[in-house]
Amino acid sequence: MSSKGHGPQPAAQKEKICKLKKDGKLEEIAKLSMRPIVYCSKCRLEADNPSVLCNPRALKQK
Ligand SMILES: [Zn+2]
Repeated sequence: MSSKGHGPQPAAQKEKICKLKKDGKLEEIAKLSMRPIVYCSKCRLEADNPSVLCNPRALKQK
């Protein structure tokens, strides 16, 4: 039937840094929070991208 060989998704999504913190991957967190624009209101982590936080909130910009 289907002639498409590609899977649905290559699973290239970033892990949540909230989870990285639990795993102790502080270097990975640092890479994802070089210029933070959002923070996690649950875990109190900062990140460049809201998609890596479990409960993202906008940081107040100066
Ligand atoms: Zn979180």
